[in-house]
Amino acid sequence: MSTERHRLAVLLVPGDRVTIDGHRRQIKATRLDRCATGGSVAVITFQSGPSLRLPAATLVQVVAPVPASAVWFGDWSLREDVSGGPPTREVMCTTCHERYETGDDPAALTTWCVPHAGRTGHTGFRTTATGFLRAVVRPGPVR
Ligand SMILES: [Zn+2]
Repeated sequence: MSTERHRLAVLLVPGDRVTIDGHRRQIKATRLDRCATGGSVAVITFQSGPSLRLPAATLVQVVAPVPASAVWFGDWSLREDVSGGPPTREVMCTTCHERYETGDDPAALTTWCVPHAGRTGHTGFRTTATGFLRAVVRPGPVR
């Protein structure tokens, strides 16, 4: 029997079989990397075919059986929880510590940082993403 669950891209492990764009692929290796906008991306290498870069919080469909390294989590999985609102991002100037909340619009980073740099000459920024996750148990038979 094969069951499918969703797991954050950042939590994928070698051996996981995933369904991406309708194709089943087996993961050979994973690592974390930074993306140009300051967030984290999971770099996923498969047993065959090209590797893939996904935002760390992307939910990926994982096909059971769960590899031994993930059995510890049992039937628990972690999901993005948007009931309290979408993920938000804050950016801070590393020189004067002025902050700006961009909400869920990634383009707002540029529309705040670039004018700030032009006005002050400050060129370094730190960005922080805030989102909510919820651990859930897969429904099972009633005992
Ligand atoms: Zn500044």
